[in-house]
Amino acid sequence: MTLDEIPLLVDSSLHDDLLCRESFNDLEKQTNLVLKTIKKFFGKKDFYNGDDITAINRHKIEAKTNGSDTLTFEEAIEYLNKLYIDNAIAFHNPNYVAHLNCPVVLPAIAAEIIATTINTAVETWDQSTSATFIEQEVIKWICGEFNFPVTSDGVFTSGGSQSNFMALLMARDDYAFKHFGVNIKQQGWFNEVSKFKIFCSDKAHFSVKKNAALLGMGYDAVVPVKTDYKMRMDPKALELAIEKVKQEGNIPIAVVATMGTTDFGSFDPLTEISKISNDYQMWLHVDGAYGGCFVLTDTHKKYFKSIDLADSITIDFHKTFFQPVSCSAYLVKERKNFQYVSYYADYLNPQENRDEARPNLIEKSTQTTRRFDALKVWFTLKTLGKNTISKYLEKVHYLAESVYHKIKDNPLFEVAHKPELSTIVFRYKSLNVNENKVHDRVNLFIKNKLFKQGKASIASTKLDGNIYLKFTLLNPNNTEENLFEILKMIEQKGEQYKSIN
Ligand SMILES: *Cc1c(COP(=O)(O)O)cnc(C)c1O
Repeated sequence: MTLDEIPLLVDSSLHDDLLCRESFNDLEKQTNLVLKTIKKFFGKKDFYNGDDITAINRHKIEAKTNGSDTLTFEEAIEYLNKLYIDNAIAFHNPNYVAHLNCPVVLPAIAAEIIATTINTAVETWDQSTSATFIEQEVIKWICGEFNFPVTSDGVFTSGGSQSNFMALLMARDDYAFKHFGVNIKQQGWFNEVSKFKIFCSDKAHFSVKKNAALLGMGYDAVVPVKTDYKMRMDPKALELAIEKVKQEGNIPIAVVATMGTTDFGSFDPLTEISKISNDYQMWLHVDGAYGGCFVLTDTHKKYFKSIDLADSITIDFHKTFFQPVSCSAYLVKERKNFQYVSYYADYLNPQENRDEARPNLIEKSTQTTRRFDALKVWFTLKTLGKNTISKYLEKVHYLAESVYHKIKDNPLFEVAHKPELSTIVFRYKSLNVNENKVHDRVNLFIKNKLFKQGKASIASTKLDGNIYLKFTLLNPNNTEENLFEILKMIEQKGEQYKSIN
């Protein structure tokens, strides 16, 4: 058999379902149809069509796939529209005030299209080229905003939970290495790890506990520290808790200070906490998933005075930089701490090929294949600039304050705190009742009714075991009038509860 006679094993016809030059016309056509469909979604008045159990059950069946459906693109979009798009939750709608979801800025969408179609993976230079520099420069910029030194560095992550995971991993491994000479990355777990304790406020994010468990330390390794009337960690209580842990023979290794707690937007007192963590030689991590971006504002800069004393910082651009999910970063003051996650794989980033001019970001990440999420932040900075974002943040803070002033003296409401960021926690407290159990039922009724009728999406949370309502305001296009309107709806639903019970 000569070379020419080797049979063709694959069909040589072009696979025009793959994105390539030949399929570009199709991409343009499909994109136009997609835009038309999304435009309808953005044209809707309500944040949600409303909750109807018949429709929910139908959607569950419609979501099924047997792996070999044969819809045309147009049919599939129409199908998806009914199943999902038309009843998706609209985070840009001013009556959506529930969770930390933000409307997104236009340049971020353009950047997403570029990053997704080119599909750059940023883990190694040979996949990423100059995208590497774009991520590095965004990291450098945000480290600068926090007054981190030139030795600082960072990496994009999937979210605050992953960033907090990296922080606790570094805290654990750094402590083990410095105080016990144990290299956990190489040798794994050793007995003393079960004595390691991490301190955070009792209002800190649950991912601190979850990550402690994932890192082999367990939920019990996390010691909740009391908060004051402003929902901030009480530094005295922190010191007492550390002393108690030591007396019990355990080992305090880290403090997590929250800049913007998820429920109350409160800022832990960083200057005092950093003194304590320094005295006890503990790692200081700042969880700024929610509040971190407020470093860009004039109104909140003051809270960040001692941020440069932190060892590491979590910041979520998909919460308070108006970016699509995912977009988050983990920053460390001393770049060398990335040694606790680095790995040199022969096929990707062999150590002997290290090249300062062509860095491999994988050395800093717990992920391997990784999206080019930094592009949307970079593109936003290049076009809108950080001042636009800062104005948005000041606006949503202002809105939270307005709601606070509106209800603080209203006997129908009880406010849990004065908002420091853009959340406000309160409950409807109908007159003549003094029982928390009743208030719990009324407030849940209000929240569920407003959601199910597609009128407004409000969150709920617990304070001292009792149910409260929560506005999370991340939409700069919202208005006081509209928010006051939602308050009226809450009153109406509260009245309705009374009349049917
Ligand atoms: C939202 C939040 C997190 C978790 O971030 P994800 O991006 O959702 O993983 C962590 N900490 C705080 C304070 C948060 O508000």
